[in-house]
Amino acid sequence: MSDKVLIVTGGSRGIGAATCRMAAAQGWDIAINYTANRDAAEAVRDQVVAAGRRAITVKGDMAEEADILALFEKTEKELGPIGGVVANAGITGKITRVEDMSTEAMREVINLNVLGLMITNREAVRRMSTKRGGKGGPIVNTSSIAGRLGSPNEFVHYAASKGAVNAWTQGLAREVAGEGIRVNAVSPGMIDTDIHATAGAPDRAARLGATVPIGRAGSADEVAEAICWLLSDHSRYCAGTILEVSGGR
Ligand code: NAP
Repeated sequence: MSDKVLIVTGGSRGIGAATCRMAAAQGWDIAINYTANRDAAEAVRDQVVAAGRRAITVKGDMAEEADILALFEKTEKELGPIGGVVANAGITGKITRVEDMSTEAMREVINLNVLGLMITNREAVRRMSTKRGGKGGPIVNTSSIAGRLGSPNEFVHYAASKGAVNAWTQGLAREVAGEGIRVNAVSPGMIDTDIHATAGAPDRAARLGATVPIGRAGSADEVAEAICWLLSDHSRYCAGTILEVSGGR
């Protein structure tokens, strides 16, 4: 058993998958959560194993409390005590103006991006807090600069969910910083992943990349670098930090 057991939610594709690969190189054993795409999750698992670390894949909907609890339990059973968590699973919902948005679409985004992330963070604290007999460890949440831009005409509900992630990250960080747990977030800008196609705009990153001050969309690896820094001791004096990785947007 190692001290470095990491859970990455939404680890099968995009930013989560890049994080799993990079965290493996930092010595983490990894539970790779996914919800639908088993082949992608297993490909990431094989890459982590090829890097010399242990890895499991765990299917589960991170909007569902029972699935979140099962993820933690399976990870502990198969890899050992949890030493870090990346709460990364998130969706934008389809691009829609608010006046045309269904309540169900709003609920789906909030249930995963906010409530699911809160429950995931709570389960991490319950296990890692030194006050509760744990050894401490980092929590990194995946937010978005949408939380400050508001994403008008695209997905205001998504932007609001990430605003909530920022407030939660800062509040929880202050609550548990004295208990060995550093809670921080990355806040990516326009990153070239499948999320845009899922939102209904497959060309979004290519089309809007040129409007970013740096002149292009970012890559999943560029966000994973920031997540892995926040996971590492190099960021040991950071708590409640929202680290923007947005090319200047
Ligand atoms: P992505 O490429 O669409 O990948 C999404 C990942 O989340 C996949 O691994 C997917 O699993 C998983 N997932 C989706 N719904 C889930 C659920 N209900 N339960 C568990 N896992 C679920 O997304 P991404 O661009 O990497 O985004 C990752 C995070 O970064 C999100 O929180 C997103 O809001 C944030 N972000 C992204 C951007 C961007 O421009 N890409 C910008 C700012 C913030 P399956 O493979 O099984 O479907």
